[in-house]
Amino acid sequence: MYELAQDAHGLGLPVIFSGIAEARVSLRKTSWEIVASIEAHVNAALQCDRCAEEFVRRVDASFDLLFTWSGTERITAVEEDYYVLGDGQKEIDVSDAVREYLQLAVPFKNICREECRGLCTVCGTNLNERICGCTVVQGDVRWSALKNLASQNDSLS
Ligand SMILES: [Zn+2]
Ligand SMILES: [Zn+2]
Repeated sequence: MYELAQDAHGLGLPVIFSGIAEARVSLRKTSWEIVASIEAHVNAALQCDRCAEEFVRRVDASFDLLFTWSGTERITAVEEDYYVLGDGQKEIDVSDAVREYLQLAVPFKNICREECRGLCTVCGTNLNERICGCTVVQGDVRWSALKNLASQNDSLS
């Protein structure tokens, strides 16, 4: 088991990522391949889909990488799945893969917290911070139209 840690920006991650990117790598080696099982995580600043506020959450990625050596007979059938190591190569670099998989691990839907109230659809107030009052008036739009008519009649008479 190897443990790697690198600053998010040192690893080349985009600005939404912050803190230390950590990865745990375990290697299984046979005579013709190396399987690297990797668990990585880093913090990412995400935007809430409900209230549009930015919040920081840990993003996790776990994946396997396959390595084999050039000239290995079995490689031909599955070549595209493997990273090919040169003769005598003793080190493998997983940082490109860690960077890619962490970016892919960012969820498409993000809610800052389960009970987030989101934005008022009328005035845009963040309802987590304060209640704007629109929610009380909103009711049924058709009824409020009638209400307006009624008040116009009042002023005519
Ligand atoms: Zn939110
Ligand atoms: Zn409002």
